[in-house]
Amino acid sequence: MTITHHIPDDLLRAYASGNLPEPFAVVVAAHVSLCDECRAMAEAQDMVGGALLDRQAEVALSQGARARLMAALDHAPPPAPGPRASGIFPAPVMQVLDGHPPQWRMLGGGIRQQILSADRTGSLRLLYIPPGRAVPEHGHRGLELTLVLQGSFSDSEGRFGRGDVECAHDEIDHQPIAGQGEPCICLAATDAPLRFHAMIPRLLQPIFRI
Ligand code: ZN
Ligand code: ZN
Repeated sequence: MTITHHIPDDLLRAYASGNLPEPFAVVVAAHVSLCDECRAMAEAQDMVGGALLDRQAEVALSQGARARLMAALDHAPPPAPGPRASGIFPAPVMQVLDGHPPQWRMLGGGIRQQILSADRTGSLRLLYIPPGRAVPEHGHRGLELTLVLQGSFSDSEGRFGRGDVECAHDEIDHQPIAGQGEPCICLAATDAPLRFHAMIPRLLQPIFRI
């Protein structure tokens, strides 16, 4: 698995210091469980207790300290017990699913979803998009963080495969299209309702809470 789209630095810092709303924290935790690079960054930030909150502090960390930190990470304690990764679903997702497989609801066009949580801090959902199918084009009022768990999708920002994260915000309008082959299964967190351009998805929005 080659991950090319990672968690942006500011989100990783907010995650490591426990300041990320729950839906986003789950997406970051799931990516971190699949990505050695982001895991090392998150653990390093966590270990120094937030001392790396800005770039200057990061630069100030001497080479020796960095080497000791990295060595310590090799001996990190095993993860806390709880639901383990199952199939394509990383442990943080299985935790939210309470160890059960997803309960899909049809959205139309073969697209399915399961809402995992939805409250004032945002929503977290699993999405299932058949090969070659497009999610209706939409913009964003806030932040949308999408992690690919199976298959792939492409949009104006590039191609996203398993482990890749797309971070979409106010300025991005996109129409993700699932790649050929396996259905695309994604974990997506949003902090505000999406803005759909077509009338029908807009009408469905209150019903499906997408
Ligand atoms: Zn990463
Ligand atoms: Zn989007």
